[in-house]
Amino acid sequence: MKNTYDYLIVGAGLFGATFAHRANSQGLRCLVIDKRPHSGGNIYCENIHGINVHKYGAHIFHTSDCRVWDFVNAIVPFNRYTNCPVAQAPDGKLYNLPFNMNTFYQMWGVKTPEEAQRKLDEQRREAIEKMAAEGVDEPRNLEEQALSLIGRDIYEQLIKGYTEKQWGRPCNQLPAFIIRRLPVRLTFDNNYFNDSFQGIPIGGYNRLIDGLLKDIEVKLDTDFFADRAHWANIADKILFTGKIDEFYDYQFGKLEYRTVRFETEVLNTPNWQGNAVVNYTSADVPFTRIIEHKHFERFGNEVYDNPITVISREYSTEWHEGMEPFYPVNDSRNQEIYRQYKQLADMETRVIFGGRLAEYKYYDMAPIISQALSLPL
Ligand code: UDP
Repeated sequence: MKNTYDYLIVGAGLFGATFAHRANSQGLRCLVIDKRPHSGGNIYCENIHGINVHKYGAHIFHTSDCRVWDFVNAIVPFNRYTNCPVAQAPDGKLYNLPFNMNTFYQMWGVKTPEEAQRKLDEQRREAIEKMAAEGVDEPRNLEEQALSLIGRDIYEQLIKGYTEKQWGRPCNQLPAFIIRRLPVRLTFDNNYFNDSFQGIPIGGYNRLIDGLLKDIEVKLDTDFFADRAHWANIADKILFTGKIDEFYDYQFGKLEYRTVRFETEVLNTPNWQGNAVVNYTSADVPFTRIIEHKHFERFGNEVYDNPITVISREYSTEWHEGMEPFYPVNDSRNQEIYRQYKQLADMETRVIFGGRLAEYKYYDMAPIISQALSLPL
């Protein structure tokens, strides 16, 4: 007997919704299920007093891929939000991020790129000489990477405390690649991303998800694992976007994650911190950053149109059963466990694995879309 659906899509997050949209537009019959009471996965926003609150952490869309940018803007137009976070450092001062001429001026008083370069060279010398003395070509960990890229002052004020809070491990035990994507610039440019396009969907991320899932059957509060035998036979193929270790009954062990706990507060003031993102880089402050959500969608004096604001303090913690998994911990132990699950996944003929949890990989939103648009149907 022919199955009711061509595809069962497990997970209504960005990967699942994009894939469903594409399959549906090609005439394939899709059913999307999600165990949460809402669609959207971690990009879901909750509207509080007219403000879209990023319930699972700040999401800022950025890409240089025209195909992806055109695709999402055809679903919902994006606004002009440009991410320019600031950091409150242990010395009590505020610094611009990413590391640029504004940061160097605030840190050392240098005013020209030439002065800044001289200061950076002086700051980096210690680490580079130490590595040379030890016969090391490449930084072996995040601390060496930071010290050789930017030097001790910035490492201690803006990197060490933040990173150790975020990952719960000392910087000299973390992989160097985590910090490699942080730009260092000799221009007065506070734009966090180097990408050609960035923004937030006008009206919020739920519009993007609702647009992707338009005309597609979605069942919420529906857990694949609660009746696996039933779901396994409802469609010809399955796109699975949940945790790969759970799919294989944890037979090679459990994969580890970092998660984020949010303390969200409604405040009776129109503009509390003047920016969407303020990082707290001191080890003495328990949270990593504070998000003031209205700044993602209101610019300039528009923020005063709403007399109320909503902020979220983010606390990074180790993941335990029952929490939402956020960041994969891609250390060698976890990668080895994942490799074994991946071997099983590669042998599947009816199941495709996609996204952050099924591929155990840290993904930004744009690559998720690109990947979901490229998979063979
Ligand atoms: N980072 C830092 N200080 C900051 C912001 C970031 O040291 O104020 C480092 C930290 O190691 C972090 C990495 O840069 O893990 C990547 O940060 P990003 O904000 O890009 O990560 P996201 O939170 O978006 O995953």
